[in-house]
Amino acid sequence: MDAIRVRFAPSPTGSLHIGGARTALFNWLYARKTGGVFVLRLEDTDTERFIAAAAEGIFSTLRWLALGWDEGPDKGGPFGPYAQSERKPLYTAEAQRLLEAGSAFRCYCTPDELAQHREEVRKRGEVARYSGRCRHLTEDERRAKEEQGIRPALRIAAPAEGTTVVTDLVRGEVSFDNRASFDDYIIMKSNGMPTYNFACVVDDHTMGITDVIRAEEHLSNTPKQIIVYHALGYPLPRFAHVPMILAPDRSKLSKRHGATAVEEFREQGYLPEAILNYLALLGWSPGDEREVMGIEEIVSMFSLDSVSKHAAIYDVKKLTWINAQYLSNLPIERVVETVLPFFQARNLVSDQPATQEMEYAIRVIDAVRSRIHTLVELADASAYFFSADFSYDEKGVRKHFTKEGVAQVLTRGREALARVEPFTLEETEKAYREVIGGMEISGGALIHPTRLALSGRTVGPGLFDIIVILGKEKCLARLDRAIAFVNACKA
Ligand code: GLU
Repeated sequence: MDAIRVRFAPSPTGSLHIGGARTALFNWLYARKTGGVFVLRLEDTDTERFIAAAAEGIFSTLRWLALGWDEGPDKGGPFGPYAQSERKPLYTAEAQRLLEAGSAFRCYCTPDELAQHREEVRKRGEVARYSGRCRHLTEDERRAKEEQGIRPALRIAAPAEGTTVVTDLVRGEVSFDNRASFDDYIIMKSNGMPTYNFACVVDDHTMGITDVIRAEEHLSNTPKQIIVYHALGYPLPRFAHVPMILAPDRSKLSKRHGATAVEEFREQGYLPEAILNYLALLGWSPGDEREVMGIEEIVSMFSLDSVSKHAAIYDVKKLTWINAQYLSNLPIERVVETVLPFFQARNLVSDQPATQEMEYAIRVIDAVRSRIHTLVELADASAYFFSADFSYDEKGVRKHFTKEGVAQVLTRGREALARVEPFTLEETEKAYREVIGGMEISGGALIHPTRLALSGRTVGPGLFDIIVILGKEKCLARLDRAIAFVNACKA
């Protein structure tokens, strides 16, 4: 078998969404799995809708996800250029070939004429399709149209009878009735630009693509493209249409279902590792219960045979759960690297942190990272380690700061901590146990208000971890502040 070549071919009309990223991932996985080549192609012929920044945005999101490509617009390769806007001469030449072979024809119908025809057909209760009017124009008729200054579009001369069968690696054989599925559709617009179904075929062939892996939404385009393959005398690639991604209520995924752009997840503090892991599960599974899998493991398990025919359900909760797993289990250096910009954005850590500042941040991150879902949450839940400028959780105040004698309990805790040397986990805990024993109170009666005093919160890492990371000086100052607060409440 020839070396596998697959491609991801985004249209730069917006940012990269979950669906596009999943298509990119499946192509990438297949290339990595088979030792093949992953090509990135920009489908930017739709000039009006082309947004230059969108292309750059898509590239940068793919890079952030670590879905690197082997050939593409930015890095070239043996089959370039890789942006369709730079391949016009090729489409023109291939269209000319079809024209000469009689497999395509010039169409001079104006938009008004086409609309009128559609209307008539609709009135008769038939499916609107091109009338075939310009298929058999004589030379004279053509010349007359040209003299009127009408610039023709090119249409493929498509079969109006029979069926076209798509053999799909995921869906098996899918039959399309030619008459119902397409007409003599336009392959080159009158402005000289190719349409998607034509450019895509010319590119997939000339770029040596062996496997076209794309979303199920494109399945209905495939018979149209097969006609072009046949007309141009190109061999067919293999096709694999990966299943639809639906919202939890099985409706089409849209804005109202929350974030779907990968960038939004990036901003909310999701890790690329977690997003890739989640995307891999949208339409694929390793065949067992495994859900949290590193990318190497996914590559080794991946095959198109195990891609499902059934729609995948998009579930942000699952993604968030996977993200939490990665946050608690990735090597601490990796979590630190990704969360640092979030800390810096909140001014918790300086832009160029000195070694000591970094060491402190690492200890905080390591203590806080379990039970956390996103990097934003992690920065949030770490803030009190860097600044005493926090208010006390209101419920916590009612529960722990209004108890009879709490000022005295906190004072005893403070005195005990002041005496502790060295200020370690064991010693601070021992000192607290002695206060608890000495005052004959429950552990919680000292531990809960201390946590609130030190962090403003009622939940978080182990109290003695907090105490030791903060250090003696900060603990004593925060306990003083809490004691004053409690006394002021009473007064
Ligand atoms: N530009 C098309 C899209 O973004 C590519 C479809 C294909 O992969 O053939 O949907």
